[in-house]
Amino acid sequence: MTTYTPSAATSNFINKNHLLFINGEAVSSISEQTIDVYNPATAEKITQIQAGGQEDVNRAVAVARKTFEDSDWSRALPSDRERLLWRLADLIEANSDELSEIESIDNGKSAAIAKAVDIRLAIDFLRYMAGFATKIEGSTVDVSVPFMPGSQFHGYTRREAVGVVGAIVAWNFPLLLACWKLGPALATGCTVVLKPAEDTPLTALRLAELVMEAGYPAGVLNVVTGYGHEAGAALSSHPDVDKLTFTGSTPVGKMIGKAAMDSMTRVTLELGGKSPTIVLEDADLNMAAQGAANAIFFNQGQVCCAGSRLYVHKKHFENVVADISDIANSITLGQGLDPSSQMGPLVSAKQFDRVNGYIEQGRKDGATITAGGNGLNGPGYFVKPTVMVDLEQNSKLIQEEIFGPVLVARPFDDIDEVIRAANDSEYGLGASIWSNNLSHVHRMIPRIKSGSVWVNCHTALDPALPFGGYKQSGLGREMGSAVIEHYTELKSVLINI
Ligand code: NAD
Repeated sequence: MTTYTPSAATSNFINKNHLLFINGEAVSSISEQTIDVYNPATAEKITQIQAGGQEDVNRAVAVARKTFEDSDWSRALPSDRERLLWRLADLIEANSDELSEIESIDNGKSAAIAKAVDIRLAIDFLRYMAGFATKIEGSTVDVSVPFMPGSQFHGYTRREAVGVVGAIVAWNFPLLLACWKLGPALATGCTVVLKPAEDTPLTALRLAELVMEAGYPAGVLNVVTGYGHEAGAALSSHPDVDKLTFTGSTPVGKMIGKAAMDSMTRVTLELGGKSPTIVLEDADLNMAAQGAANAIFFNQGQVCCAGSRLYVHKKHFENVVADISDIANSITLGQGLDPSSQMGPLVSAKQFDRVNGYIEQGRKDGATITAGGNGLNGPGYFVKPTVMVDLEQNSKLIQEEIFGPVLVARPFDDIDEVIRAANDSEYGLGASIWSNNLSHVHRMIPRIKSGSVWVNCHTALDPALPFGGYKQSGLGREMGSAVIEHYTELKSVLINI
């Protein structure tokens, strides 16, 4: 196996003694327990992190509270918040080679793709959010209180930072997901306790260093690494957290939502998906086949809005499936630091077993496998891009989120049928329609129950467009101006003049 050597900056960072990051300092967890971190491309241990627990979360939340209520940060002007966010985005950009290498070694994804997508989107989003720091507005409201005749009033609303934000994120886009939480928190003046996924904690710790370098006061961002059932559970049930923002699986999201309601903590949840890719009769078929392949195979299929169900008009079904299978077979699997690698390993042994388990289930259910269909023998957790047909709409592989490079395709006859099939899911995160018939497309868009609908593209994201789920895919939205509402409280003011 070829060994790829990262830059000196990346190696230095990975080889550091990784501690928690609280009040601007690296500190040990109270228990001093650690968690091993692995490179999923080689299955080798690369470093270890602290296993933070309840007491560490208590420390971090207390610091975040004090910083929110009484510090230079609590007195920062909107223009200061804007300037700092720009500086942070600039620092991420200046360090994007290192960050993408760290992400690649920690998560398995291609470093080149991490730089072009994950890190790029994080930078653009922070810059977009920087602009909001100076544009948080309420409104004046004409009021006449009916039971106080003769009085005159001045009524208006203000948006105020929600306070201490507890952010818990998944491992598929570690830095980007952290920035989706951090951007609106820092634009509005909140403070943050971030719990990264235990599988991919490293870029969050590097981000904490960059936040300090950008000039943020200590205590604005605190990072507590650790297991979900320990550090994550402690954060989600902490009574002094004002808002929880979570990206991860639907079952854990429900637990977090319930914990949040015990103390009426504000909560937004970005959860799982099973997004349909729909190819209509009149679509540009080459574009649709390439687009459908990218929709499922990008990031090894570990994308919440991956196009994991493909519906193709019956006239083109066989051709499109054959084209996608050819594309799948041509994808080069390799370590993320290998510049020729187009697809890396899955994130962990657990995820490798899970995805292979679904492929086996598909076989048992009578699927025909037209590409892939197995994992590679180790080391590393590589699974071949897989395409399956001949499964029923109610089969597990069509209904459940696999979170791997596994596409299941079905033919359809007419638009009503495909809309019923597309909506036949407990999830509702994304959907794409491939067609050149504007009339069909515009009539379909309102009928599809998902937070995003893409036309002739899939998983195309822009900071200005909100992202989030219908149904069990979540609550609330990330990005766009909509996210500001989730990081602010709305206060009504009425003055008897
Ligand atoms: P997960 O729910 O297992 O873990 C996510 C995070 O929650 C991790 O940091 C984990 O440590 C923490 N956690 C686990 N148990 C917890 C508990 N009891 N209390 C508090 N925190 C806990 O999910 P995962 O396997 O890491 O990520 C994959 C899932 O994330 C998929 O379902 C995917 O669709 C979803 N996802 C959604 C989006 C989106 O924007 N909608 C984006 C990325 C991933």
